[in-house]
Amino acid sequence: MDYQKILDEIAAEIEPTIGKGKVADYIPALAEVDPDQFAMSITLFDGRSFHTGVSDRRFSIQSISKLFTFTQALGIYSRGLYERVGVEPSGNPFNSLVQLEYESGKPRNPFINAGAIVITDMLLSHYGSAENCYREIEAFVRDTSDDWSVSFDPVVWESEQEHGHRNTALANLMKSFGNIRGDVEEVVRSYFKHCSIEMSTRELSRSMLFLANHGTDPITQRQFVTTAQAKRVNAVMLTCGHYDASGEFAFHVGLPGKSGVGGGIVAVVPKVMGIAVYSPRLNSWGNSYSGTKALELFTTKTGLSIF
Ligand code: GLU
Repeated sequence: MDYQKILDEIAAEIEPTIGKGKVADYIPALAEVDPDQFAMSITLFDGRSFHTGVSDRRFSIQSISKLFTFTQALGIYSRGLYERVGVEPSGNPFNSLVQLEYESGKPRNPFINAGAIVITDMLLSHYGSAENCYREIEAFVRDTSDDWSVSFDPVVWESEQEHGHRNTALANLMKSFGNIRGDVEEVVRSYFKHCSIEMSTRELSRSMLFLANHGTDPITQRQFVTTAQAKRVNAVMLTCGHYDASGEFAFHVGLPGKSGVGGGIVAVVPKVMGIAVYSPRLNSWGNSYSGTKALELFTTKTGLSIF
C-alpha cells in the first residue's frame, strides 16, 4: 500500500475542515497554539514511518497520557486495579462529577479524568514520591516511543494547576469515599504534570507499536505488559477512548483510539501499525475535529479497521 500517497490525500481532503471546531481554552496555555495546524503519522512494525503536516512539532498530549499511566498501573497492580476503577463507558463528559457521586467515588473507567486521577494516586503510592512517580511515567513514555528527549511543558503544567478546580473537586469527592489514598493536592499536581507531557505525532505513532503487538515492542522486542493486559488496554481504548463520543469514534473509525484536549489522537491497527494525528480545534465532545475526520478517511481508504 502506498501510505505516503494516502496520507497526502488525507491532508488535502481534510483541508476544508481545518477552521472547524474550537481550541480548548479552559487551560489558558493550550489556547496559545496555532489552531489551524494538522499532522498525521503512522509507524509500521518494521520501523518504517510515514508523515504529513507538522509531524515533528510537539504538542500537549493531555489525556493521551492516561493511556500510558493506565498501562503502567495495570502492569503493577494487575487485576487489583479494577477494585478502584471500572471499565465501562461513562456516556458523560470527561470531567463530570455527577456520576461519581451516584457511584460512590468509583470512576467508570481509567480514561475519564476521575479514573485517571485514581490511577495517578495508585502510581504515587507505588513509587513513593511525586518526583519518582513522574520520573517513572516519563521513562515509560520515553521507552515506548524510543525517544529519551520526551518531556513535559512547565507552562502548561502551571496553567492547568491554576485553573484545575474541577479536577481538584473530583479528587476531593473521591477522597471522601476513600478512593484517593494520597494527599489530594499532590495527586492532582502529579496528574496535571503527566497531562502536560509534549510529543509529536511521529513520536506518538511510534509509542503505540507495543499496544498493536500484544504488549511487546516489535522493533526492540521489549515487553511492556502481557498479551492479556494489552488486550484489555485496547478494549478500553475502543469503548472509552473518546469520552461520550466513544461509540461515534468506533462507528466511524473502527480502531482502538485515545484522544486528548490538546488536539492529539492515537490509534492502533492490531498487528500492523501505530497512528497519531494532531489538529487543535476540537468538536463538541472535546476530540480533535479534523483529526477524527482524518482517521475516518484513513480507515476508509486503507480498509484497515478491526471490524
Ligand atoms: N488535563 C486535562 C484535564 O484534566 C485532560 C483532559 C483531556 O485531555 O481530555 O482537564
